[in-house]
Amino acid sequence: MNKRTIPYISGDGVGPEVTTAMKLVLDAALSKACGGESQIEWLEVPAGQKAFDEYGTYLPDSTLEAFKEYHVGIKGPLTTPIGGGIRSLNVALRQGLDLYVCLRPVRWFRGVVSPVRYPENVDMVVFRENTEDIYAGIEWDSGTPEASRFYSFIHDELGVEKVRFPESSSFGVKPVSREGSERLIRAAFRYAITHDRKKVTLVHKGNIMKYTEGGFKRWGYALAEREFAEELSSGKLVVDDCITDAFLQNALLKPEAYSVIATMNLNGDYISDMLAAQVGGIGIAPGANINFETGNAIFEATHGTAPDIAGKNIVNPCSNILSGAMMLEHLGWNKAAELIYSALEKSFGEGYATADLARLMPEGKALGTKEFTEHLISLL
Ligand code: NAD
Repeated sequence: MNKRTIPYISGDGVGPEVTTAMKLVLDAALSKACGGESQIEWLEVPAGQKAFDEYGTYLPDSTLEAFKEYHVGIKGPLTTPIGGGIRSLNVALRQGLDLYVCLRPVRWFRGVVSPVRYPENVDMVVFRENTEDIYAGIEWDSGTPEASRFYSFIHDELGVEKVRFPESSSFGVKPVSREGSERLIRAAFRYAITHDRKKVTLVHKGNIMKYTEGGFKRWGYALAEREFAEELSSGKLVVDDCITDAFLQNALLKPEAYSVIATMNLNGDYISDMLAAQVGGIGIAPGANINFETGNAIFEATHGTAPDIAGKNIVNPCSNILSGAMMLEHLGWNKAAELIYSALEKSFGEGYATADLARLMPEGKALGTKEFTEHLISLL
C-alpha cells in the first residue's frame, strides 16, 4: 500500500471547519480513485492561537521539523499575531522552509458566478516569487534614526538627490537577485513543459525599475536560452514578457492569451487576487508554497481566518479542498484530484454551494459547510 504521512495545521478561526472538510473529501477521493491502495495518514501539528495557548509559542520548532521531515503538508488560515516578535506565521513558515514559489492555479468552475463575461477563458498558473522584492521587509519608518542614517548614506555616499521630502520619508529596500529570479523562473519553465502548457510570460515593471524588475526579465530570457534551448527550438516552451500594468488589462480583456505566469513578489500578490476574482473570488482559490529543489511544500487555503463567520457552519471550504487536490497532484495522485474537480463542477453546475457562492447563482441552493462537504463526497 502507498501510504503518506501528511502533517497539517488546522488553523485559527474557520480553519478547523475547512480542514475537517478537506480531510474528509481527500480521504473519500483517494479511496474512490485507488480502492484503498493509497492512503493519507494525517498528522496534526500545532501552530497559531491553539499552539500559543498550549505551548506558549505561535510556531513550535517541532512543527517546522515535521514539515521538513515529511516534505509535503497542508495548512488552514492562521491569525497574524498583533505586536511582538513574529511578523506573520505564514512568512515564518515560508522562510523557515525556503518555500520560494507561491503557486496559484486559477481556473473557472462551471456554475460559479463571475464578474467577467467569459470566465471559462481564464486558465492560468501563477508562479509568484516568495522571498525577495519589496516584500523582504527591509524598511524604516519616517522620523527614525535609521531612516535618517539611510538617507544620509544614499545622499552623501551615493549622491542620490532624488528624494523629494527626505525629512519625512520612510524607506524600503527592494532586493532582487539573479539566483532568486532564476530558481523561480526555472520552476515555471519546467512546470509549463511537464504540464504541456508551453507558454510562460514574465510579468515585470522593468521599464521603470530597470535593474530589479528589468533584471528579472533579462535573467529569465538568458536562463531560457542557456538551460532550455532544446525545448525552445522544438516549440515545447515559448517565453515572452509583459509589463505589469499592460498584463492587468490584458488578463481581463484576453485572458486566453496567457497560460503560465512567472512574476515577482508584489506583482504576484496583486495578480493572483485579481485573477482569483475573475473566476469567483478567493473563497475558492487554492494555493501552495513550494521549494522545487528540496521538495518541501505547504498547500494552503488562500483566504484568512474569517473570524466573523467562524463556528457558524457557513464557511466555504473549497479553497482548502482545492489546495488539497493540488497536493494530491503534487504527490502523483492525479486521478483522485480529478474526481474532486469533477464533483465540484457538478455541484456548482446544479447550484449547490455554500451561501457565499449560492446567493450569486440564479438557481443557487445554499448548503452549510458540513452539508456541502457531504454533498461533494456523494458526487465523487
Ligand atoms: P479574511 O479572508 O479572513 O476575511 C475577509 C472576508 O471574507 C470576511 O468577511 C470573511 O467572512 C470572508 N471570507 C473569507 N474566507 C471565506 C470563506 N472561505 N468562505 C466564506 N467567506 C469567507 O481576511 P481578513 O479579515 O483580512 O483577515 C482575518 C485574519 O486572517 C487576520 O488575522 C489575517 O492576518 C489572517 N490571514 C491569514 C491568511 C493565511 O493564513 N493564509 C491569509 C489572509 C489573512
